[in-house]
Parts: sequence; C-alpha cells; structure tokens
Amino acid sequence: MTVMKTMVMKFGGSSVADDTKLNLVAQRIIENKDKADGIVVVVSAQGKTTNNLISESESLSATPSKREMDMLLSVGEQITASKLSILLNEKGYEAISLTGWQAGIKTNSVYESAKIETIYPERIYKELEQGKIVIVTGFQGINDIGDITTLGRGGSDTTAVALAAALEADECFIYSDVDGIYSADPHVVDGVKKIDEISFGEMQEISDAGAKVLHDRSIQIGERFDCSIIAKSTFVDGEGSRVCKKIETSEVKSIVNNTKVALVEVNTNSNINNIEIYKDLLANNIIVNNYKNIKDNKVSFIALSSDINRIQKIFEEKNLEIIIEEISKLSVIGYGVIQDSITLETILETLNNRAEVLDINLGQSRIEIVAKNIDDSIVNELHQKLITA
Ligand code: ASP
Ligand code: MG
Repeated sequence: MTVMKTMVMKFGGSSVADDTKLNLVAQRIIENKDKADGIVVVVSAQGKTTNNLISESESLSATPSKREMDMLLSVGEQITASKLSILLNEKGYEAISLTGWQAGIKTNSVYESAKIETIYPERIYKELEQGKIVIVTGFQGINDIGDITTLGRGGSDTTAVALAAALEADECFIYSDVDGIYSADPHVVDGVKKIDEISFGEMQEISDAGAKVLHDRSIQIGERFDCSIIAKSTFVDGEGSRVCKKIETSEVKSIVNNTKVALVEVNTNSNINNIEIYKDLLANNIIVNNYKNIKDNKVSFIALSSDINRIQKIFEEKNLEIIIEEISKLSVIGYGVIQDSITLETILETLNNRAEVLDINLGQSRIEIVAKNIDDSIVNELHQKLITA
C-alpha cells in the first residue's frame, strides 16, 4: 500500500463569513489540490453564527441544557461545510462534506467542552481514495451514547490538528484573516513583529497568557503528535507563522497584557474550609487561577471578567463578603526570559511608579506580572525595549 500524503487546511469563521469569502476559500483549496494526494478541509461556522445561535437560545432559556446547546451550535459548522462542498462541486471539483461523527471523531461526554478521544479515519480515507476533497465540520464530535458534542469555543483548530495527526500529516494549515502570529496584539502595540517560527511550548504560554490565537488543545495535540501548525492568511499570500518542535532560542517572543481578568478576594468564615470555595467555583464550571490563601479566612484568585457576575451570585448566596479589583496580567514570553534577571529587571523598571505590582509569577518560559493600571503605553514601551530594540 502506498502511503497517502494528506494536506489538512482549516478555515476560521471570518474566512468563510459570506459567499465572496467562500469563493476565495474554494480558490485556496483548488490551488493546493495538486500538492498532496488528498485534501481534508476543516471549517468553522460562518462569521458570527455561533454567537447568534447562543443568543437565540438565551432568549428561550437562561439555563439551556448543555446537550441541547451542543446540538444547536454544531449546526453552524454543518452549514459552512455543505455550502463549501456545493461550491466546489459547482466549480467542477468533487467534494463531500462530513459531520464530526461521519468523520469518525469520537469524544468524551463533557458537553460544551468535550475532548477528542479517538479518530476513526476510515470514511475520510474512503472518500479521499475516490479523489474527493473532504470537508469536515470543525468543533464537533460524537460521544459514547451517540450524542453530538462540541469542543469548546474556538475548537475547530483542535479538530484540524487532531485530524492532521490521525491522518499522519506532518503539518496542519490554519487559515484566518490574519497572516500569522504576532509579537503582541496589533490593536494595542505599534510596530508588532510577525513570528516566523515558535516552539509549541512558547505558543502554549502565549495561549495561557490569554491571547486567543490558537485553541489551546490544538497546540497540545500538535506537540504530542509532532504535527507543525502553520497559521496563514486566507486572503494574502505569505509564509505565515510556524508552530513546531524546535530548539528554543533565547529572544523574547511575545508580550500579552490580558485585561479581561479580575482579582477576587473572598472573606471566608471559620466554618468554611478554603478548599470549599474552590469546589464551589468548579461546581459552577468557573475556572480560576492564582488561587491563594492570603490570610486566615481569606482567599484570593484571578477570574475571567466574564465570570464575575456569576461569582458574585455564588458568594452572595453564601453570605460571604467579596472584593473585586480591576487588574491585568502582563506576560512576557520566550524560552530565555527566566534564564537571567535582565528581562524581569526591565519589566519592573518600566512599571515602577506607573503600575501597582501585586504578584510576580515565573513559569517555564514566561514571566507573569499581576498588576493594577498597566496601560497600553506601558505595553508599547516594553515591546520596544524587549522585542524591537
Ligand atoms: N464556531 C465555533 C466558535 O465560534 C468553533 C470555532 O469557530 O472554532 O467558537
Ligand atoms: Mg478560531
């Protein structure tokens, strides 16, 4: 049997937002057709479809069942996949769209954030062998009892990389409306640099720091199966950025200032064990970090701003006093950043008298500063000193 070389291309929501864009996506697929023995395309829902479906459910119920939400949200990707297939057929190329379950994507049963357990690629291979372009819905799979599950917001990246790994492709192309991964958020920082190559570990840190570039589990799968991830633009030609296994170099790769977080302090009373607070949060599906026992009867943690209303409600019901403070988490990422003291010194000097530093955390290849009042001018200055200088 000859080994089949499969190319996996994923197109995000903004790349498939309307018919004009769908035509450009079809063009990208067609121009790559002869570069591989077979092409598997993974698609997201068009534009704001997923958000709109969520709003529609919210107008029916404040607490819809997660199983039903997965049934609902999975529809978005099915619309894109079938439309793209219709379009490719119309252009004279044989294509077929497959849902997550038709593509053999088996997940666990955690509705709304299911994990892929196994992929049975037989059907995909069968269609590829018949010369078809296979279009798979991202973000969804099927569980043990035959229910549709979704992988969590942004999960189509994970579908794509998992499929690339299952089909033994060495790389997975993730197309979007940006032409790669940048050293900082271009909406905040002037003169950002495009990253040509970055290790999986550093990319994971960027994702943990709060930058929504790639779905975090796609990075983990890429690393585990040694499948490089190439982030590229659908609309502009270029090499893009490659996330791969590489010897880490010492330069600072990226700065992320995550402002969508808040510091929460809870005054517990002596009847409540601190771990109970954590359990309450988990029971409500609220993931927090930097969880600390700051004094007797006092814990603090950092939560997503979007979870704050729910957190307030939980502790109000328990009659526990909480304090919420506006903060941000500034992360400086690069394999070398903790190898010497220069980076940390530069950060602290720059923040001095301008921001109130509450905490410093050192990770594998990340310095994280929890502080009040880090504004865009500070982030710009740090980017200049640490990356462009
Ligand atoms: N459509 C899903 C979302 O909006 C999945 C994805 O786009 O990756 O989160
Ligand atoms: Mg995405």
